[in-house]
Amino acid sequence: MSMPATLLLRSVSACLGATAALLLGACSAISTAPAPAAGSVDQILSRSHRCSDSLNLRSQALNASQEAAICSELALVEQRFHSVFKTLGRPVKGDLNRSLRANIYASNEDFGRYAGQHFNMPTDNGGMYLEGLPDQPGNQAEFIANQRKDGSVRNLAHEYVHYLDGRFNLHGDFCAVLHDSHSPPENCARPAPLTPYLVWWTEGVAEYIAHGERLSARQREAAAAKTFALSQLFDTGYETNTGEARVYSWGYLAVRFMMERHRADIEQMLSLTRVGDYPRYQALVKQWGSSFDAEFAAWLTELLARPV
Ligand SMILES: [Zn+2]
Repeated sequence: MSMPATLLLRSVSACLGATAALLLGACSAISTAPAPAAGSVDQILSRSHRCSDSLNLRSQALNASQEAAICSELALVEQRFHSVFKTLGRPVKGDLNRSLRANIYASNEDFGRYAGQHFNMPTDNGGMYLEGLPDQPGNQAEFIANQRKDGSVRNLAHEYVHYLDGRFNLHGDFCAVLHDSHSPPENCARPAPLTPYLVWWTEGVAEYIAHGERLSARQREAAAAKTFALSQLFDTGYETNTGEARVYSWGYLAVRFMMERHRADIEQMLSLTRVGDYPRYQALVKQWGSSFDAEFAAWLTELLARPV
């Protein structure tokens, strides 16, 4: 064997620091880094690509041009977020989530097959953002999704905004923010028992920053139906007062209305959520009550009449 001495030394010292399983197995022969276990996250999501300081991609099958397209799409989303909220790049206190890792499976089938075991998460959804514990050093914020048949990635921009909103607008981890979800992997022990929650905001702002001003067919349909008063939307949850249209389309409409017409109220709200003063957030939203409802209903009509 003609292995250079330096490589040999590195290989042996890696073995000395390895787990007992490795010492029993792979390290009995001189080898380079051990291959990832079959079916492990490192084996399945074997490609990695660094977009920027704040975004890394790990994937099963993205090609170089898809990686480049994702990096530029999300760079635009990131710029829009910082310009809309004037964050000056300052995260909320105690947030160490300097970067997001997007984990992208090749297909919906592979997402269903592997994501549960790799990330301990349910897979009956279109992808998930897992914030983890942002105040813990070494925590890694993860987004998990998959490619569609045409190669694009489901919910990419939406989930990226969750990362940015969690880092720059909302203090604390997912369980600290007001909602009623007990679902894994967080299994929040004490989700907020009383409304108003923050689901209208978190899901609505993700839709608003990700998709911008152009209304989707679903958002148009919702606005035309005028199903909800704004004051009802503040109580939107994941388990109760819920539904896909209410959470996403109505979340978008509620956030867009507040951003267009009540920006000062939103800034007051964010001054509370950024420091984790969720009781005062609830008091503020209760104080708003139904005072914006009539204006919201009129705004929906006006929105639909705008040129496309
Ligand atoms: Zn979402």
